[in-house]
Order: sequence, then structure tokens, then C-alpha cells
Amino acid sequence: SKPAYKWRRVLLKVSGEALAGDHTENIDPKITMSIAREVASVTRLGVEVAIVVGGGNIFRGASWAGCSGLDRSSADYIGMLATVMNAIFLQATMESIGIPTRVQTAFRMSEVAEPYIRRRAVRHLEKGRVVIFAAGTGNPFFTTDTAAALRCAETCVWRIRSLTYPNRGVVCFSVNAEVVLKATNVDGVYDDDPKSNPNARLLDTISYQEVTSKDLSVMDMTAITLCQENNIPVVVFNLSKPGNIEKAILGESVGTLIGG
Ligand code: UDP
Repeated sequence: SKPAYKWRRVLLKVSGEALAGDHTENIDPKITMSIAREVASVTRLGVEVAIVVGGGNIFRGASWAGCSGLDRSSADYIGMLATVMNAIFLQATMESIGIPTRVQTAFRMSEVAEPYIRRRAVRHLEKGRVVIFAAGTGNPFFTTDTAAALRCAETCVWRIRSLTYPNRGVVCFSVNAEVVLKATNVDGVYDDDPKSNPNARLLDTISYQEVTSKDLSVMDMTAITLCQENNIPVVVFNLSKPGNIEKAILGESVGTLIGG
């Protein structure tokens, strides 16, 4: 069916795990290329795309903290640096197919990328450039999902009041929010863990409240709460299915919509 609404500016969250796919190395170049192609086709339609990349394919702070005296903050800084590697890889891939792309880091690495400056990021987006936000929030003890929610709240200025989804009815959001599109390796949010329960159902839509109270581990609490407080809808979808990024960006029914 025809998309009910096309997002004007989206924040695409790509986890590190999604970048790795089932490749034996940390990054599968076929995946980065397919992301680049799908993003290219929507930017040509005038949709503005910002991306937050994760780093879990290289280093996850929480799982290393405590080993051989490595404290959590140091481990998390290493994790944030991992996201910068992914960002540069993705930027180079995008530019190889002609999409102007800027990387902005949450802490300074000025020889490598621009520092994060909100107004400058918005200006890049307005000019049709893709902006990749790297180094998460710049703070240990946070995640790149929280960085996605934060950057979305900071940079999304399009005003929307309601969305009509085929089979989902009208979902209302307050103004000043756009959307976080969370690209993962699963099809969306299930009502139970699909690994342990074969009858688990894929949900079309779910409220923030249900995500937090049922502890569905879609996003960490900080990220989901930040989205809820700012009425930012989140679409969780499977990156490994070709065409899904385009569908998600074009507002077509894909994955699970969290909101309301
Ligand atoms: N990280 C952090 N602060 C942030 C974002 C990320 O300390 O604001 C660190 C943290 O150690 C995390 C790692 O960077 O484990 C990689 O990010 P994340 O786990 O969110 O990546 P993803 O799961 O999306 O691949």
C-alpha cells in the first residue's frame, strides 16, 4: 500500500551488530554498501537522513568492564572510539557512491571528523548531506540508543501531529518530534522472546509503557524514556532484509512502531 506519511527527517540508528552481519570480520562491506545505497535512494527523494552508529561489533564497554582491572569509564571510552571506526567506514562507503556525508563526534577528534555542533549538523541536513553522529553521547555509562534518542530530539524540527498507518490506525505524536528508526537483526518487537517461545508474535505497534513494563529489551531504559518524554516514535526493523531501510524511511509499514 501507498505510504501514509513520508518522514522528512529521520534518525537512523545502526547497531554495530547489524554492521557485522554474519561476516567473520567486524564489518561486512556488503552491509555498509547496501545501507549506503538505500540511504542514497531516499536522500534523492528529499528525505534528510542522520545516522547514529553503534560499536558493539568491535567493543562493548559493559562486557569488558571489570576484566583485568579495566574500569567501566575507560571501557566505555574504548566503546565510543569503536563507534568512530564504524562511522568512518560508513562515511567512506557513502561517499564512494556520491552521497556527501559528514561525521560529527561527541568528543573532539578534529583531525578525523567534525566535532558535534547542533546547528552545523542541522545545516548539513538541510543541504541534503547525510550526518553520521559518532562517539555516542560522549559520556560513559550511556549507549548509542540513548545517543540516537538524544540527537533525534536535538535535530528533528519537522512538525507532525498524527500518522495514519495501514492497519494501525492513527497514532498521534506531539510536535517537534520526528522518528528514530532502529535497524537491528530482528524483525521488530515480539510479545515474548522468540528464541525461547516459538509462538511469540511480532507486534505491529506497542506503547512506550508496555516496552518498559514488560522489559522487552528493545532499547535500554534511558533511551526509551527519553523517546517517551519527547514523543519521539521509534520504528524497530530488520536491516538484513533488502529494501527495509527504504521502507522504514518512507514511512511504510515495516517492523514495529513504538509510540503513544
Ligand atoms: N558508549 C558509551 N556512551 C555512549 C555510547 C556508547 O560509553 O553514549 C560505549 C559503551 O561502552 C558501548 C559502546 O560504546 O558498549 C558501543 O555502543 P553500543 O553498545 O550502544 O553499540 P551497539 O549496541 O549499537 O552496537
